[in-house]
Amino acid sequence: MLIDALLAALPADRVVRDPDVVAKYQHDEAEWAPYAAPVAVVRPRTALEVQAVVRACLDHDTAVVTRGAGTGLSGGANATDGCVVLALEGMNAIKEIDPLERYAVVEPGVVNDDLRAACAEHGLWYPPDPASSPWSTIGGNVATNAGGLCCVKYGVTRDYVLGMQIVTGTGDLVRLGRKTAKGVAGYDLAGLMVGSEGTLGVITEITVKLRPLQDPQRTVAGYFDSIVDAGRAVSAVAAAGLTPSALELVDKQCLIAVDAWKKMGLSVEANVVLLGRIDTAGVVGDQEAEKMLSCFDEAGATWSAVSTDQEEADALFAARRLAYPAMERLGPVLTEDVCVPKRAVPEMLARIEQIGIAHATTIANIAHAGDGNLHPLLITPRDDEAARARAQAAFADIIDAALELGGTVTGEHGVGLLKMDGLAQELDPVVLGMHRAVKNALDPRGIMNPGKIFE
Ligand SMILES: Cc1cc2nc3c(=O)[nH]c(=O)nc-3n(C[C@H](O)[C@H](O)[C@H](O)COP(=O)(O)OP(=O)(O)OC[C@H]3O[C@@H](n4cnc5c(N)ncnc54)[C@H](O)[C@@H]3O)c2cc1C
Repeated sequence: MLIDALLAALPADRVVRDPDVVAKYQHDEAEWAPYAAPVAVVRPRTALEVQAVVRACLDHDTAVVTRGAGTGLSGGANATDGCVVLALEGMNAIKEIDPLERYAVVEPGVVNDDLRAACAEHGLWYPPDPASSPWSTIGGNVATNAGGLCCVKYGVTRDYVLGMQIVTGTGDLVRLGRKTAKGVAGYDLAGLMVGSEGTLGVITEITVKLRPLQDPQRTVAGYFDSIVDAGRAVSAVAAAGLTPSALELVDKQCLIAVDAWKKMGLSVEANVVLLGRIDTAGVVGDQEAEKMLSCFDEAGATWSAVSTDQEEADALFAARRLAYPAMERLGPVLTEDVCVPKRAVPEMLARIEQIGIAHATTIANIAHAGDGNLHPLLITPRDDEAARARAQAAFADIIDAALELGGTVTGEHGVGLLKMDGLAQELDPVVLGMHRAVKNALDPRGIMNPGKIFE
């Protein structure tokens, strides 16, 4: 029996079957996606223990659903019936920070903010900063190729992964990639693992590239009556040739929800707030901030300013980060993650507004606007099946609109379960076939997070 095999291979405290504890590992933050009961949650502490779990699952034909912090927004970490949930939060050692070579070697369960804090002690910076950085793990970030706020200038997780150690679907423990600044020895299999959402193997160690600490940032805030005007400001910033270190959008519904929860004393005068940041040093940075301000004003901002109050600027960014959990408190949230070309941002925001009206669905908005990565949040009252069906129809229409405008169904959250239909719409059937071929090569028995991303 599988449980006996697990108990034979691992210390007993690693194998959890208490139904109350197991229930907490059944799904990620995407409650709209289906999930089922796992047979056990296993909490390994070493790569060899991970390998032992995968081998036991192979012997007993059991699916492995790997999980970091469970902050995913696409159902990627949702348990399948009778699977083993491999919870890696206990593998949280920062093994090495090399200031000369500028890399860090970490276990997958290290929380993003903890890595950033440890790097800062060496004057170094790990840029990818998902809004979930206080909770999400580097393993989860790599497996979803997480983006974040500063990605508009500094790139996404993929741009920082040098190498990794994985346990494959065949139970082998291998190293991929490199630690050197350059390297082209063989296919980029480490790159292939980035964004693979647990479907190709379990990541047990990661080497990430670091940068020197970021220069101080200026914050430019703009208030807008209309979300489309805010979208025009985003396009204008790109057209002006600016590269902000963040350009985020948050609407009034989110600000009210955050303030009701955290009592931050946020001003909720504006319907939509754009928050830009410039980290270019010296006079050039000042000029860029002024240029961004003009872009906001010319697009119709009702108020705008370069903030001289760091505390106030930080509070606005903190509110942006808290927007999703704040909205979740109001009812089930179905989160979109479409990404469109920057020039299409105003049109896409207008279409989202129209789709909300057409389906009588409340839609709040947050966005990594500078990347064209929009997160309309579809909110429904609890236990209202009709509202749920309308929200699902709106979700499908938003995906159609993003694809029509030359965008993609998921900018950073991953496909998981929620965007499987969208992926099938976006990719050529031949390309989907290539995905299946890769999966069969690395996970021939199909035990790694089956039923996620594609059929
Ligand atoms: C408030 C909030 C804000 C967010 N903001 C952002 C944002 O700005 N940008 C962004 O990109 N995302 C964001 N997210 C989504 C989420 O935080 C990211 O997808 C994050 O990378 C998931 O990390 P995790 O540790 O929680 O992984 P989980 O949710 O546990 O897992 C995510 C996926 O990765 C797989 N996985 C996890 N660990 C491993 C591993 N070691 N090996 C192989 N597969 C693995 C899982 O099977 C699953 O498919 C946000 C979520 C919340 C709740």
